[in-house]
Amino acid sequence: MPFTSELPKMKKAVAILLNTLPRPWLIRISRPLMKLTSVFFHGNKVGCPVCGGRFSRFLPYGYNVIRKGVLCPRCFSLERHRLLWLFLQNKTRFFSDPLKVLHIAPEQCFYKRFRSLDNLDYTTADLESPLADIKLDVQEMPFDHNTFDIVICNHVLEHVPDDRKAIREIFRVLKPGGFAIMQVPMDLSLQKTYEDPDIVLPQDREKHFRQKDHYRLYGRDYPDRIKECGFVIHNGNYLDQLDNETIQRYRLPMDEYMMAFYKEVNPG
Ligand SMILES: [Zn+2]
Repeated sequence: MPFTSELPKMKKAVAILLNTLPRPWLIRISRPLMKLTSVFFHGNKVGCPVCGGRFSRFLPYGYNVIRKGVLCPRCFSLERHRLLWLFLQNKTRFFSDPLKVLHIAPEQCFYKRFRSLDNLDYTTADLESPLADIKLDVQEMPFDHNTFDIVICNHVLEHVPDDRKAIREIFRVLKPGGFAIMQVPMDLSLQKTYEDPDIVLPQDREKHFRQKDHYRLYGRDYPDRIKECGFVIHNGNYLDQLDNETIQRYRLPMDEYMMAFYKEVNPG
């Protein structure tokens, strides 16, 4: 492999790039970077269901701790993005039925692909992202009750001061029978979500909750927290239904749950 010795250098370069460049700049240079890396990583050891690419390996990624082999060199999907794509593809009618979708904090690897789907009436929203159609605070959204069939709100709740308020708000804007996807970073060794209102300094939040702008670290009680706000779960963690070969091929995350939270048609 001619580039084996180059890999540590490349890993370091990618890490420096991701850690120093502002996110809007990264998005701007992503297209030429993607073309270059997808040639460089030609192969068939790993696959990305989001862009359909096959590669010899994925790229390293991470802000504090660099994870090896997780970032798709073509579409920049991470473990959690590939897991969500597989879930939507295999367990829902996201890609076929006429559906009204609200996507909060739309991820770069998804939003153009979702917007191009003719079956979706697709709205993006965010507190500040330039990618979003609507600027909003997820704790108080400018939508009527029962508006959307699906709300996607991934890796957002850990940044929200009152996450239960946000979860109840998502429940409110969902139509009965609709569902929400709310992936969060988790520590599966924790039975109970770790939060402490006295931890407020950015450096303390980073130490206790992994990132300076995180308000908590979710534990295995996360689904119960969602259910307390009105949602029901029809199936368990989707990851439990996948075999090891699939998990390895797509480099799926082992440390967070993937499930749909439903607003029942006839609650109670
Ligand atoms: Zn990809």
